[in-house]
Amino acid sequence: MAQTTPKHTQTVHGWAAHDSSGTITPYTFKRRENGVNDVTIKILYCGICHTDLHHVKNDWGITMYPVVPGHEIVGVVTNVGSNVTQFRTGDRAGVGCLAATCLDCEFCRDEQENYCEHAQFVYNAVFWDGSITYGGYSEFIVADHRYVVHVPENLPMDAAAPLLCAGITVFSPLKDHNLLESKGKRIGIVGLGGLGHIAVKFVKAFGHHVSVISTSASKEKEAKERLGADDFILSTNEEQMQSKKRSLDFVLDTVSAKHSLGPILELLKVKGTLVVVGAPDKPLDFPSFPLIFGKRVVKGSVIGSIKETQEMMDLCGKHGITCDVEVVRTDGINRALDRLAKNDVKYRFVIDISSDRPASKL
Ligand code: NAP
Ligand code: ZN
Repeated sequence: MAQTTPKHTQTVHGWAAHDSSGTITPYTFKRRENGVNDVTIKILYCGICHTDLHHVKNDWGITMYPVVPGHEIVGVVTNVGSNVTQFRTGDRAGVGCLAATCLDCEFCRDEQENYCEHAQFVYNAVFWDGSITYGGYSEFIVADHRYVVHVPENLPMDAAAPLLCAGITVFSPLKDHNLLESKGKRIGIVGLGGLGHIAVKFVKAFGHHVSVISTSASKEKEAKERLGADDFILSTNEEQMQSKKRSLDFVLDTVSAKHSLGPILELLKVKGTLVVVGAPDKPLDFPSFPLIFGKRVVKGSVIGSIKETQEMMDLCGKHGITCDVEVVRTDGINRALDRLAKNDVKYRFVIDISSDRPASKL
């Protein structure tokens, strides 16, 4: 896509992993000058998605080190380009996974740019000008305004940050399957982590019955009492899984590690749908019998479009839906990543980027 090549003259402090040990250390790098289509955002908070962990550890074999992770970015606009009309200095803004798309393919033209073949992500990707993208574990970001959303005034910034990836990733398939309009369906959420916990909140807010399907017995009480889950199925307990066979209309699988889809498919009613959004490094076990004997459907889904992301943010603002977060300082990123790897988080770590700033620059 033809653009004037911007100069990368702005020095920014951030945090990067330099090899597959995944250890994060302070890292200074350059960002482009704010172009005519850009907004510059002073980052206040950035969520730690499991995708960040996959990247810093090179789980998927695609990491370009040094990698500055982070695609659940919220902050305040500090500069806007001359073509930008929807954002002003001082606005609360969010950036998710997308940095650039081709703007011209059938998906870009149809506001489904998250399926553009040339989509480039906010980190570990290549921007229009050929530069490597660096994410939100940093003090500020320069983003094309077409990939920036507004953060409603009533949402706390820290608890809103994970909506930019975890939120939209679960919102989009729910919307796709008309679950915003219909009520009273029986929905299963597999994996109660960052994505899973916000999915439970959405499904309840949309008026459905929600079952959490989890490997962690310790999460049952809180899932029901705090997140509002109606049922909790321990996936390691065969008896419980058997007793819930053919009980669900729709299941969303958010699990980050290899597992079998067979027992999950058995939970679906005949013609039920399973949407996989988790991205383990190894292929999932996918037996055909539960698929064919239940006429079931398995699909995938990746994040959501920018239009959908704004719709979700506005809906969260309207209903006061936010994420359950544990805020960490910038010097606590490594410990947070270690705990995330051990499934020890309820339910999303969020980095307070300003914890690194002198008080005068907060
Ligand atoms: P997370 O917070 O770590 O949650 C993942 C959950 O999976 C855990 O809380 C755990 O839930 C379950 N789990 C972990 N290991 C397991 C195992 N060995 N067997 C069965 N269950 C296990 O991760 P997240 O940030 O929600 O991300 C989840 C996945 O989605 C990651 O792979 C991430 O890369 C991917 N992702 C995809 C998209 C997309 O667009 N499709 C977007 C964002 C993230 P229980 O304790 O309840 O079992
Ligand atoms: Zn993510």
